[in-house]
Amino acid sequence: MIIEHWIGGRATGGDATRRALVYQPATGEVQHEVLLGEKSDVEAAINAAEAAFSEWSQSSLSTRTKILFSFRELINAHKDELAAIITAEHGKVLDDAAGEVQRGLEVVEYACGIPQLLQGSFSDQASAGVDVFSFREPLGVVAGITPFNFPAMVPLWMHPIAIACGNTFVLKPSERDPSSSNFVARLWQRAGLPDGVFNVVHGDRVAVDALLRHPGVAAVSFVGSTPIARHIHREASLAGKRVQALGGAKNHAVILPDADLDFAAEHLVASAFGSAGERCMAVSAAVAVGPAAAVVDLVAERVAKIRVGPGRDPASEMGPVITAAAQERIKSLISAGERQGASVAADGRDLQVPGYEGGFFVGPTVLDRVTTGMDVYREEIFGPVLSVVRAADAEAAISLINSNPYGNGTAVFTSSGAAARTFQRGVRVGMIGINVPIPVPMAYYSFGGWKDSLFGQSSIYGPEGVAFYTRAKVVTQRWPGTRASAEASLHFPTAR
Ligand code: NAD
Repeated sequence: MIIEHWIGGRATGGDATRRALVYQPATGEVQHEVLLGEKSDVEAAINAAEAAFSEWSQSSLSTRTKILFSFRELINAHKDELAAIITAEHGKVLDDAAGEVQRGLEVVEYACGIPQLLQGSFSDQASAGVDVFSFREPLGVVAGITPFNFPAMVPLWMHPIAIACGNTFVLKPSERDPSSSNFVARLWQRAGLPDGVFNVVHGDRVAVDALLRHPGVAAVSFVGSTPIARHIHREASLAGKRVQALGGAKNHAVILPDADLDFAAEHLVASAFGSAGERCMAVSAAVAVGPAAAVVDLVAERVAKIRVGPGRDPASEMGPVITAAAQERIKSLISAGERQGASVAADGRDLQVPGYEGGFFVGPTVLDRVTTGMDVYREEIFGPVLSVVRAADAEAAISLINSNPYGNGTAVFTSSGAAARTFQRGVRVGMIGINVPIPVPMAYYSFGGWKDSLFGQSSIYGPEGVAFYTRAKVVTQRWPGTRASAEASLHFPTAR
């Protein structure tokens, strides 16, 4: 099948020649081709979005809310279908894909509260006879550029809020698993969203550059790897656009000696190997403090029992990685770790899944005695590899985290409230879990890392999402005829 763009409410572009192959990671077979958009496709999408903006931005809050509620119902009704599409192209197991849809749905539910979220403020009698009030307006056409690892959820972090705020949207999803975006576009249409408010242009760098350079795009939301996030932030800022660019991660989980080690091992395994480690919030570095190093054996025991297989098989707990190139890169990083002195406590390099020999599988791998100079520690591996670093005490663990260029998520396992508090106040990281290894904030908070994990001022979704997709007006008003409202003076105005 050829996956086309979705522009102005219809699939389009099927005769284009530049295309990319979309694989089924579990088998290694090609299942689709996706169009790689040209500048002209991006222009067509922006034109459609610009044309739709004048009416959509003037639609009432109740109209928008009705459509959002219908969209919510439709996603909910088609959750399983959406999860199956994700599993087929991404490879993650079905219940994990369903979890991704659920977390995206929660952002839609948050956006359903847009009448309240967009409420301004009013100060009566700020000065004698003078009132001040504020409200927020949409920006215009906004763009989202998203990664492969959450093909439905990450776009859902963006477009429901942007659209609820009155903007129109152009999505450039990952070319590796593009189908769910077209599926979602059709759900928006069925929910009653006017054509042109939500558009999808598939593609690679060509489409992204066209979005970044087009004067009709007011704001860019990006989620992906750090080098591209840095590039997007720079280019969009130079072009005068508002931009939030979320990058990569190296998430540490510290295991303190007072932690329940069985509990910690259980959660470390779930966090490091769920979705084959292809989550920006996966724990990829466990920092074992002193005697907590005993957790390594407990982790290795559990890792040996993980059932790796195709995502659509309900018995599988972990699926393949996204491409053959990713599979090779992950294996070679594991080998580099071994060469550089790490000890391999669980080795997934030679894993074969019977019947799926062509699939992009890497088994869960644990490297112990990793040090900060090793490639496995410095690189974001984005695969099923847990590196264990040892630290002498909690202070050393915190300083290790703070020396890392990334600051997306981190966690501590402990039974001490005091130690947890010292940790949460001491780490320079945006999202922190206390005995919670994947602390992805709920939809009514905002998601964002620090340092090289986020470029720009604004986190994504939640209240910061609403602020990002709108700009404020503050009105100071007086009505002649009311008491003390008529005096004028050449002085700079001050309240009386
Ligand atoms: P990626 O950076 O390769 O791609 C992200 C998007 O950028 C895709 O749409 C891609 O087509 C586009 N792109 C790729 N190269 C480009 C270039 N040279 N110029 C312009 N656009 C380009 O990321 P990925 O491999 O799809 O996703 C994995 C990465 O995303 C990991 O680093 C992961 O940590 C990160 N991620 C971060 C978060 C977060 O919230 N911070 C969430 C999910 C994923």
